[in-house]
Amino acid sequence: MSKEKIALFTIFGGTGDLAQRKLYPSLFKLYQKGYLQDHFAVIGTARRPWTDEHYHEIITDSLASLDADAEKVKAFASHFYYQSHDVTDAQHYVTLKRLSETLDAQYGLQGNRIFYLAMAPNFFGTIAQHLKSENILTNNGFNRVIIEKPFGHDFESAKVLNDELTATFDENQVYRIDHYLGKEMIQNISAIRFGNNIWEFLWNNRYISNVQITLSEKLGVEERAVYYDNSGALRDMVQNHILQILSLLTMDQPVEFTENDINIEKVKALRSLRPYTPAEVADNFVRGQYAADGDIKDYRSEDKISPDSNTDTFVAGKVMIDNFRWSGVPFYVRTGKRLADKFTRIDVVFKRPIVNIFNHDNNASDSTNELAPNVLTINVEPTEGFELRMNAKCVGQGFATTPIQLDYDHDSEATANSPEAYERLLHDALNGDATNFTHWQEVAYSWKFVDVIQKYWDEHTPDFPNYRPGTMGPAASDELLKRDGNEWVYKE
Ligand code: NAD
Repeated sequence: MSKEKIALFTIFGGTGDLAQRKLYPSLFKLYQKGYLQDHFAVIGTARRPWTDEHYHEIITDSLASLDADAEKVKAFASHFYYQSHDVTDAQHYVTLKRLSETLDAQYGLQGNRIFYLAMAPNFFGTIAQHLKSENILTNNGFNRVIIEKPFGHDFESAKVLNDELTATFDENQVYRIDHYLGKEMIQNISAIRFGNNIWEFLWNNRYISNVQITLSEKLGVEERAVYYDNSGALRDMVQNHILQILSLLTMDQPVEFTENDINIEKVKALRSLRPYTPAEVADNFVRGQYAADGDIKDYRSEDKISPDSNTDTFVAGKVMIDNFRWSGVPFYVRTGKRLADKFTRIDVVFKRPIVNIFNHDNNASDSTNELAPNVLTINVEPTEGFELRMNAKCVGQGFATTPIQLDYDHDSEATANSPEAYERLLHDALNGDATNFTHWQEVAYSWKFVDVIQKYWDEHTPDFPNYRPGTMGPAASDELLKRDGNEWVYKE
């Protein structure tokens, strides 16, 4: 059976950063691998008055780092068409419809359409509405819409956005990108949990002490300053990526490994998040903003950032899940900018053995008789792999124990050749598989959890800046765990 997928892509925001940095290279990789062959076309739309020829140059430039065969690139770029289009102008959709129909006939696209909204979300509603009113959706093929974060800035705005989209598209036609769900090691969470008896039986509050999720960035706010200053770390990272990872770590086993069954379990997990009262927010969530250090400016002095900004560039929190499996287990999450390093990791810390039968031997001076907890670490990026900390006997006389570590990293060649998140997700969207996209109920419960924290923060003035670049955030983040007798597994 041919693996070729057939579709017309219409990319709104075709001149933008996302399109050029992520979408065009990912589509090209799908083309190189034969998932896209003769029967695809791409319409790029934006306001600039580009010609098709100029658009082809942009496509070619966006692939420069791939070092690909020039003829292949040329053939690929020939499938791209540019239409100057203001998404608020109904007349432009008439031209878009005509071009879509021409390309459908020319490339034999069978009415299959994917609309990629690579634009600010305030345009989603108007685009969706016009796609319907101008009859750009087809009856003979599939119609899917892919959208980017941010999906609202709180539950209410997310609901408005969702209502606008679902006035045109059914929920099963909406593909909400969370690029973390396209990452190899995030997809691996389900593989190790449900593919190994040794983990799933221990995956509960009887054996797990706490779980830590860290999404750490080394850079500052960079070019997304205006967006970021209105968002902050809690909205930008916790509401989506961190709660999605948490739902995959905590969901019950789906009946089958299918989109629908996984969604059911993720929603149940997110519904079980313990909502905090305002007083509990103060005790369980820490926010931070980076200070200056040497040549590094403090956040408030960055370009396009308000000098009195109270935006959080760091957040650490303790999340509790009130269900049978997880009751009493803290999930510590943290993310921030200008931290010690760039990485994403998950640490699952197991409870120590109930009785330590080895603590009678004090002869071995270079070892410890205190049994360290077992820790399973899932390294998501840049390293992709697993670590397992165990206790073993110290080599030599006597009987003392010492922690040892088992390490597995994916083969670097396999990792280098493995598809980037956007390539994977575009492929899934072509296949009609939304497993690794965020569903509305998941978005809704995540916002409801985060809104309480944000509201409390908005009503209380923080003492910013409060952490030094190159560290793992404010001291209060360490104290959050210390209070429970725990500590971060990763320390700078
Ligand atoms: P961008 O500003 O680089 O591009 C925006 C595009 O929209 C441009 O092509 C612009 O011409 C077009 N546009 C703006 N107003 C228009 C109008 N009235 N009619 C027609 N076209 C119009 O933005 P971006 O960085 O490419 O981001 C696009 C979306 O993706 C945003 O929602 C952003 O939050 C999200 N996103 C981007 C990234 C990223 O890495 N760039 C990452 C995550 C999410």
